[in-house]
Amino acid sequence: MHKAHLFNYLGIESEDGTAFTEQSREQVDSFGADRHQGEGVEEVSANGEGFVVSTEESEYEAPYVVLATGAKRDLAEDLGCESTEEGVVNVDVEMETSIENAYATGAMVRAEEWQAVIATDDGAAAALNILTKEKGEHFHDFDVPDDAQ
Ligand SMILES: Cc1cc2nc3c(=O)[nH]c(=O)nc-3n(C[C@H](O)[C@H](O)[C@H](O)COP(=O)(O)OP(=O)(O)OC[C@H]3O[C@@H](n4cnc5c(N)ncnc54)[C@H](O)[C@@H]3O)c2cc1C
Repeated sequence: MHKAHLFNYLGIESEDGTAFTEQSREQVDSFGADRHQGEGVEEVSANGEGFVVSTEESEYEAPYVVLATGAKRDLAEDLGCESTEEGVVNVDVEMETSIENAYATGAMVRAEEWQAVIATDDGAAAALNILTKEKGEHFHDFDVPDDAQ
């Protein structure tokens, strides 16, 4: 995103990619996300019940992983995710890879046809699918204006 300038992101007239990223991180933090910015991931491995994410500083266990490393696809390949004939990570419409509960988004799953809004949408599709799995039925992320409640 740091190389991009957004004139074509729905709802944003014009914004520098780095500024967009900073604003997005603030929005994520406002929901209480435990964000480990700048901690490079060295490996993602399956441990039977879920995944172990190994970084240069620590290890984290997680029932799901959403990979979003852009054109760098080595973490997905090392995990064993299947690739397409074009060499990108193969995902279904929910962005789930061939490894159950491992998702991949954005430039990892598309050859050259990249846009910020598409990468963001991929992440949303993955998140809703995870919430659906956790709930055991379709999760409807429907918020309404205050005056409609
Ligand atoms: C020059 C240029 C101009 C562009 N202009 C536009 C534009 O005007 N409008 C538009 O919509 N799109 C534009 N794009 C495309 C847009 O930037 C991409 O669609 C978008 O950034 C893809 O998002 P992503 O999340 O898949 O990957 P990225 O944005 O590339 O993010 C991947 C992130 O993963 C991190 N990462 C990688 N490996 C690891 C690891 N092992 N551990 C931890 N972190 C890791 C990277 O540091 C990076 O922060 C442009 C792209 C380029 C190159």
